[in-house]
Amino acid sequence: MSDFAQYADWFYLVGSVLFILTLRGLSGPKTAIMGNRYGMIGMTLAILTTFFVAPNPVLGMIIAAMVAGAVVGLARARTVPMTQMPETVAMMHSLVGLSAVCIAIAAVLHEGVHHDALHRFELFVGCFIGAITFTASVFAYGKLAAKKWAKSVSGVWVKPLQAILFLGMIGFGIVYFRTEDLNAFYAMTALALAFGFIWIAPIGGGDMPVVVSLLNSFSGWAAAGIGFTLNNPMLIIAGSLVGSSGAILSYVMCNAMNRSLLNVLFGGFGTATAAAGGGDGAEKTHKAGSAEDASFMMANADSVVIVPGYGLAQARAQNAVKELATVLKEQGVKVRYAIHPVAGRMPGHMNVLLAEADVPYEDVCEMEEINSDFASTDVVLVIGANDVVNPAAKDDPASPIYGMPILEASRARTVMVIKRSMATGYAGLDNDLFYLDKTMMVFGDAKKVLEDMVKGVTGGGH
Ligand code: NDP
Repeated sequence: MSDFAQYADWFYLVGSVLFILTLRGLSGPKTAIMGNRYGMIGMTLAILTTFFVAPNPVLGMIIAAMVAGAVVGLARARTVPMTQMPETVAMMHSLVGLSAVCIAIAAVLHEGVHHDALHRFELFVGCFIGAITFTASVFAYGKLAAKKWAKSVSGVWVKPLQAILFLGMIGFGIVYFRTEDLNAFYAMTALALAFGFIWIAPIGGGDMPVVVSLLNSFSGWAAAGIGFTLNNPMLIIAGSLVGSSGAILSYVMCNAMNRSLLNVLFGGFGTATAAAGGGDGAEKTHKAGSAEDASFMMANADSVVIVPGYGLAQARAQNAVKELATVLKEQGVKVRYAIHPVAGRMPGHMNVLLAEADVPYEDVCEMEEINSDFASTDVVLVIGANDVVNPAAKDDPASPIYGMPILEASRARTVMVIKRSMATGYAGLDNDLFYLDKTMMVFGDAKKVLEDMVKGVTGGGH
């Protein structure tokens, strides 16, 4: 063992503290950049230390794998548009799961090694969590990227099949644990891979955010499992941090949707939601106006609250909305942004977009903060948001999203909605907000409409 290796635990300890500081930093927009830096330093330290402690590392293979990973990762990070971040994140979780499975298989195949009971337990749990994370994340990627092969499945057979696969997986795991029979280990892994698919397939619509953050948590536990297998404290700590922070995020998101985790995972909500998407058949009418009409009304208002949603990200209109807010403020209008916890397609999606456009943090309000202010707001401008302002969540006990907290935009004096059509949002539900007397729809791509609004405001106003 080299001299350096004697101090490895100390380096790992410093790395772990840096990871904790990373999470702390990432919890607020002002400290997020520093948090990221702590993470980079911690990760570099962890990788370098591991090089020195690994017994007989095959340096060529390790470096080749790292270079290949870095090239793919850098290329993806540079090219991925903000709108494709959620599926990219899901894809990355799948890789963590896959590596857990590969390491577990490598460990059981390690010739001449007898695994004691504790080690077998770690291998069995680490491998099946990794396998479920792998296929579930691949399916989540397919769903979020709207791939044809990732169609939702439904039917009475789904839940019994899930139960059979799950019990079979545990059964073979126990056989492996008791007998060290390799075939049982492989059977368990195969069933876990199948379970991952069939577990995610029925979940749809508005429940995907929780699934993504839950898979994030799983990928952390899988990494911690590998850490036990490899006897690497750094991996155990980093995996546990990811696992527990993902679990907390899933819990917070379930609260934001007023659902329990079990209900999300096994309630089949997405299917019910999609089925309810056809509307009630009654003919409803809406009012439409131009960007110029809307800008005239906003420029003459005292207060405007902007509600961004997925359409803002889709249109890449974050700079245009900032520009509109700036010109309105110059006209003496009080402008704030209202952010729903699940607006967009990933946790914090809207906050990231607005931060990218340098929107001042003090203008950005969370749902709890701003909901009581809507009644005294002159104009609410909803930009590419739909489900997160759907009043059915409050008023219609028959709605699949009933009970989900929403931004109460309908209480403002005037509502303006920018979207391209009367189409439904992610959860596939019609939205009564669009048919209110005080609502004006402004149809078009969000970026183009916002740019027209800026021109309208600068040309008129107070
Ligand atoms: P929604 O998906 O409900 O609605 C987005 C709206 O944006 C659509 O109705 C669409 O209407 C409009 N739109 C799309 N592109 C454009 C464009 N270029 N210009 C203008 N409008 C556009 O979004 P919300 O943000 O309100 O709600 C988020 C939903 O996504 C929730 O159901 C949430 O549960 C779910 N979700 C959230 C995740 C998260 O972690 N935050 C992850 C996965 C899902 P039109 O086609 O007519 O333009």
